Amino acid sequence: MTTSKPAFLGAQPVFERAIEWTTLWPPVDDSTADRLKELYFSRRWSSFDETEPAFDSAFARLHTSRHGVFMVNGTVTLECALAAYGIGAGDEVIVPPLTWYATAMAPHYLGARPVFVDIQRDTLCIDPVKIESAITDRTRAIIPVHVFGSAADMDRIMLIAKKHGLKVIEDCAHVHGSLWNDQGIGSIGDVGSFSFQQSKTMASGEGGICITNDDEIADRLYRMKHIGYGAGERQGKAQSGPPTGLVCHNYRATAFQALILHEQLKTLEDRLDRYRTAVDYLEKRLTQTTKIRFQRRPHQVKRQGYYLWVMIFDDPSFADIPLATLEKAFSAEGLQLSRTWDPLYRFILFNLKPDAFHTHPCAVTESVASRILALHHSLLGLEMPVLEKIADAIERVVTHIDELRRVAA
Ligand SMILES: *Cc1c(COP(=O)(O)O)cnc(C)c1O
Repeated sequence: MTTSKPAFLGAQPVFERAIEWTTLWPPVDDSTADRLKELYFSRRWSSFDETEPAFDSAFARLHTSRHGVFMVNGTVTLECALAAYGIGAGDEVIVPPLTWYATAMAPHYLGARPVFVDIQRDTLCIDPVKIESAITDRTRAIIPVHVFGSAADMDRIMLIAKKHGLKVIEDCAHVHGSLWNDQGIGSIGDVGSFSFQQSKTMASGEGGICITNDDEIADRLYRMKHIGYGAGERQGKAQSGPPTGLVCHNYRATAFQALILHEQLKTLEDRLDRYRTAVDYLEKRLTQTTKIRFQRRPHQVKRQGYYLWVMIFDDPSFADIPLATLEKAFSAEGLQLSRTWDPLYRFILFNLKPDAFHTHPCAVTESVASRILALHHSLLGLEMPVLEKIADAIERVVTHIDELRRVAA
């Protein structure tokens, strides 16, 4: 192991020029640009022309699901998925606190109460044991989040849901292309919700999709995003209306987004293979040389999607080193890592009134959330020599932790 002097002690940084994910992501190529130009001149830009339905079915198929319903983002997809089952005022929806705003706001938009349940220490996903003890006679649904680069325990979650008659809406915003045994993640619960926001593993600036195997729910979801029209119905020519009381919106996106995503879909599996090689390399090497902890992936995961590759600095040897200090030391090496999230109920934008949500004790989230540094997935696609340098930079800092502690003091 080479543990040369780190940049925070005055050495040359590992990367002379910092690598920034925003220069690597989203991916751009000439053939997609040509297709976009064709689409532009075709004037067939709307969500009900052929481009979007073609993407919807290809995306659904890759995730072993029958239907895909494209929408404007991965927040309204969660909201519509809950609404499709009539979830609303007076209902409770179980969510993890280590997630993005959308997961808990989706039930709130419908007048339901998000109920925070703690995560597992190893996967960082919601803890099935704690789900069961949080169920009340008002609980209607669970939203497991397959967070960063792992997967919630879908086998146990589905058993619990079945036993208590609950719906499962999988928040798959981080895990495009994942397989749980031979099932696409997102197709195991009742509805899977994905985001295509700029930073996600498939990106079209904004966008989202619901996938489902339930024909009737697919019909509801489509009507909800297209002011009540059914799939294939032309505007002004409805053959049937939406079910009474179903609140329908205009959440339609454009064919441009669908086209970009359809091109990205063609290389998704190859990209995830590369990511996997990178993660295997980094985790194997750093497990031998450091005390950094990594996310566990359940054995049922046959292919893993990644939004972030995360390192967890919760070994006692990292005690009393603030994350900000570590972040600065990595940044001095030209390696930009980011912090993830505080528990959502403490997020500055989370402004729900105290009676609008409920929080069960979340000791694991509380202790772990502030000890995570993350690398954007796009960096996992870089060549092996760069990955080696990333590992060098991490080792350099972590093997000089006592010096770092002294510098920080
Ligand atoms: C990004 C994200 C969403 C949806 O976000 P949009 O920006 O609305 O597409 C939902 N859940 C999680 C966990 C996310 O990271």
